[in-house]
Amino acid sequence: MPVDLVLFDCDGVLVDSEVLSARVLADEATALGYSLSPEDCLDRFTGISMAAVRTMIEADLGQPLPPDFEARIRAADQRAFACQLRPIEGVEAAIRALDCRRCVASSGSPEKMRFTLGLTGLLPLFEPHLFSASMVARGKPAPDLFAYAARQMRVPPAACLVVEDSVAGVTAAVAAGMDVLGFAGGAHCRDGYASMLRRAGARMTFERMALLPALVAQGR
Ligand SMILES: [Mg+2]
Repeated sequence: MPVDLVLFDCDGVLVDSEVLSARVLADEATALGYSLSPEDCLDRFTGISMAAVRTMIEADLGQPLPPDFEARIRAADQRAFACQLRPIEGVEAAIRALDCRRCVASSGSPEKMRFTLGLTGLLPLFEPHLFSASMVARGKPAPDLFAYAARQMRVPPAACLVVEDSVAGVTAAVAAGMDVLGFAGGAHCRDGYASMLRRAGARMTFERMALLPALVAQGR
């Protein structure tokens, strides 16, 4: 079946942000008395929204985080991204080679998406088709965001292909009834990462973005 719409996750698929974000979150949480390593953050929080991260940390701590927690993370993320963020290698050429429609569906806020895609030169390839977990009731791993994005793009789930790098995102795509490819080429992907995405339901995994146009052209 041909693919009419490719839905790209942002962090870890378009921009190589996950290692940078994990360092920021580990530092901020540890400063608040909740000791975390960057590896802990990658294991537990990759692919989910900051609202969900707050809920999980508060449940463990047994007390609320400060009201400015997200604002502090956002500011620290922006400082790290401004000097260190890179696009995923080869992603711009891969996107330009696709001959179907595309959008972004991210657990990040619209502001974060615009900032990171703007820094890496990818924003003009997607505007105005940017969808955030803040636009739906439940973020990934619930299917809401992918379902919402596909409805807005007027493409049925069976004609959608999701590209995801996290277990939460792969799970969300499967729950939305969409075909999903796991991307395991980001700096945060360690040994066994691809098989973890396949266990979550990715039909296949790949590690070089240059392969994407051919995978999309194959259909499902
Ligand atoms: Mg991701």
